[in-house]
Amino acid sequence: MTVAPPASIMTTNVAQELHDLVAELYPICRSITGDGVRDTLRRIQMRLPLTIHEVPSGTPVFDWIVPREWNIADAWIKTVHGERVVDFQRSNLHVVSYSVPVNERLSLSELRQHLHTLPEHPRWIPYKTSYYKEAWGFCVSAEQYAALTEPVYDVCIDSRLEDGHLTYGELFVPGETPDEVLCSCHVCHPSLCNDNLSGIAVAVFLAEWLSTLRTRRLSYRFLFIPGTIGSITWLARNLDALQRIRHGLVLSGLGGPGGLVYKRSRRGGAEIDRAAANVLKHWDPAGDVRSFIPYGYDERQYCSPGINLAVGCLSRTPYGEYPEYHTSADNLAFVRPELLEDSYLACRSILDVLEHNVTYMSQNPMCEPQLGRRGLYGSMGGAAEGRARELALLWVLNLSDGTHSLLDVAERSSLSFESIRQSAEALIEHGLLARPANATATVSKGFHEPTGGEAQ
Ligand code: ZN
Repeated sequence: MTVAPPASIMTTNVAQELHDLVAELYPICRSITGDGVRDTLRRIQMRLPLTIHEVPSGTPVFDWIVPREWNIADAWIKTVHGERVVDFQRSNLHVVSYSVPVNERLSLSELRQHLHTLPEHPRWIPYKTSYYKEAWGFCVSAEQYAALTEPVYDVCIDSRLEDGHLTYGELFVPGETPDEVLCSCHVCHPSLCNDNLSGIAVAVFLAEWLSTLRTRRLSYRFLFIPGTIGSITWLARNLDALQRIRHGLVLSGLGGPGGLVYKRSRRGGAEIDRAAANVLKHWDPAGDVRSFIPYGYDERQYCSPGINLAVGCLSRTPYGEYPEYHTSADNLAFVRPELLEDSYLACRSILDVLEHNVTYMSQNPMCEPQLGRRGLYGSMGGAAEGRARELALLWVLNLSDGTHSLLDVAERSSLSFESIRQSAEALIEHGLLARPANATATVSKGFHEPTGGEAQ
């Protein structure tokens, strides 16, 4: 007889599938341009009808220029006897991203000027980049560094830095209204799991979930882009679309330890900020809501003063606050299936708030309606649960005067949005609340291609 594991350590299908997607994408050597990004996007395209855009090197995008494309085939540090002591095939973190090609015999002291280590974690390989300054380098563990004792080494980075394209993926999921939710994640890091792959996996699952919904009030736009230059490029090419973006989330660092952390948009009190704060308050005792700062992921660009979109950032322990960040220790063991799932479900709840945050009008505003007569009092659960439900009903009835949204009611009552929404639905069933006319239309399931830009 097979004994099931206790529920607390049982991995659900969704949790494992999220982790499986991270594992599938883990070996690919990505950077801000190049075939690693294309390969990643093509794999996502096997699950979602993603449009892949290619923007030529040299294209001006606001104050930036789309850089030359970088690709790498191999790299190593060899002894003069031919033994590979540092090998790109063993870890793509070994090469500083965007390293220019090199093929030389160097003295140990010359080589050391191009080596990066993490002395405080002697077995970890750091992750370094040199996108906008022509340079080359290797990242090695402190143990590897200490083992380099020969007088000379042969060094090769078989890379190409040449005119090409910046590649990003875009998916538009239409809803009943043109109002959009932007979900953005970066796809530019090599074999790092929490930083980049966790956000990609959660975004893919969110898009798949949204596509299965029978109705969507809002439209959704997913961006799979290289960090910084990708969001700047997308924004520069899509200024006309910005007025439709009502809410947005940057997704990153969603599989590592720690509670959920939401960083507010620059606006601070936007609907997405309030929705995320309400969900985290009732979701995660270890959760945290932080103010906007102009540092971090692509919310820096979405929240620049001339753009100023209502885009926040959801993570678990944020970048730079865990020692594994930007090291080889951000690996498949560091991201946990159950935490990926927890993050994914929290995102769904935040999007649920945005979907269902509408304003109702009580149909019986002259004193309280008689709830007992309608079976709405004490109709379910135990005494405490029944009282909480009654309180939610009374808050919805009291504040539904045409000026308070359901999120307003949730905030004022300190109740979860979900409990307020369920109460509103019960009151609608009994004719005590009126829905706005624009909340009743239905859209068919499916995807539309995004507009603008050349699709490849
Ligand atoms: Zn990073």
